[in-house]
Amino acid sequence: MTEIRFYDAVDDALLRFAVIVARSAGKWVLCKHRERESLELPGGHREPGESIRETAARELREETGAVDFTLRPICAYSLKGELRADLVTETESFGMLFTAEIRSFGPLHSEMERIILMDKLPRSWVYPVAHPRMVEEVLRRKALSPEPCALCPMYYETHAHAILDGADFRAALKRHADGPDEVWVRRVLERYRDNHIIYVRDGGDHQGVSLLAKRLAPEYGVEYRSPAFAIHQKGLYGSMVGRAWADMAAYRALVAEAKEQGADFIKLMLSGIMDFNEYGVLSCPSPTPEEMAELVRVAHGEGFAVMAHCNGADAVKAALAAGIDSLEHGYYMDAQAVADLAASDCVWVPTFAPVANLMGLGRFPDEVLNRIVEGHRANVRAALSAGARIAPGSDGGAFAVPHAAGALDEYRWLRDLVPKEELQKGAERIRERFCRHYALVHLSPEP
Ligand SMILES: [Zn+2]
Repeated sequence: MTEIRFYDAVDDALLRFAVIVARSAGKWVLCKHRERESLELPGGHREPGESIRETAARELREETGAVDFTLRPICAYSLKGELRADLVTETESFGMLFTAEIRSFGPLHSEMERIILMDKLPRSWVYPVAHPRMVEEVLRRKALSPEPCALCPMYYETHAHAILDGADFRAALKRHADGPDEVWVRRVLERYRDNHIIYVRDGGDHQGVSLLAKRLAPEYGVEYRSPAFAIHQKGLYGSMVGRAWADMAAYRALVAEAKEQGADFIKLMLSGIMDFNEYGVLSCPSPTPEEMAELVRVAHGEGFAVMAHCNGADAVKAALAAGIDSLEHGYYMDAQAVADLAASDCVWVPTFAPVANLMGLGRFPDEVLNRIVEGHRANVRAALSAGARIAPGSDGGAFAVPHAAGALDEYRWLRDLVPKEELQKGAERIRERFCRHYALVHLSPEP
């Protein structure tokens, strides 16, 4: 007989195994061992020095070939008795149960012969009691549902900059002067992981920090997307997080370079930022509407969705007409810009946190900040009722917007404006669209 128990928490030192209930494209992911006929869930022994999450990530990679995946701890379990025909354990042994959503596979590196993707669960299991009971437990906890729930909260951060530290951008840029600082990047990823943030879309930097974050993120169960660097017009806003073009040939070269470096999408800077001392004023002009159209056309033509930093009614209208895929900030829109947004396919990331979090700090006049935020709130309400898609993104790393805490702040600022399900839909649309070659399949660039 097999005895299995589930626990919300046990002492980490007791955890000796990790088992993963994995799904991919709506199917169950099961493993077929070389020497066994029946199927099993991926999982295995914790090795010395590993965290239990690292065990789960390693086993998932080795046994299923998973390359790009999101991993979530669900609960601990213990087993005792007859585990399979040839394996009995007399003492209670503990492990951690995870779920994983796998988005891409590579080769296997283990004793598994192959993986099997199934619509329904198998009848015949290597561990005939333990594994089906684990799947049942995951279902009972609704841990496979994409909806955030009390038991397993899940948040999205659709706008962050791993390079920035929420405090001092000069010090932050200096930290990576000799190449991306891995210790820093791991600390940022830990914060996202520990706050149940499963998806992060970076807005870019010119020191390779977001690319390093993307490379390390699977270890933390975080899906991380990067544009490599942001791209701005020479002389206009954006040098802090990106690189500049002076003409279209230079811009094309930058897009090619981003592609070469492994960018998932293109990030364009299409306006200045707000002057927090004076309502209605932006720090610099924008590229012309014709230039914006060309910038977006080239990016789409190369298979990239476009994340666009843009403020000011006219600039937003021009950017939407150019076909941007997400609008970042979008402060100071007028009624026409809001209507254009709602009529478009573009997802709006209004980023309240970098403005609203400044209130009460005494750094800028609260009357100005208040006016900016109130106008923005009214626009979000109008856009939502006109059918626009809105996504949660905080500009994490910006001043007064610490990583992860800022993402949760953004959810709070949006809480009474946008229903939770709507935020989820907006975030999922970004997640689907802002990966490589989305545009090749879904957008039709002009010939
Ligand atoms: Zn940004």
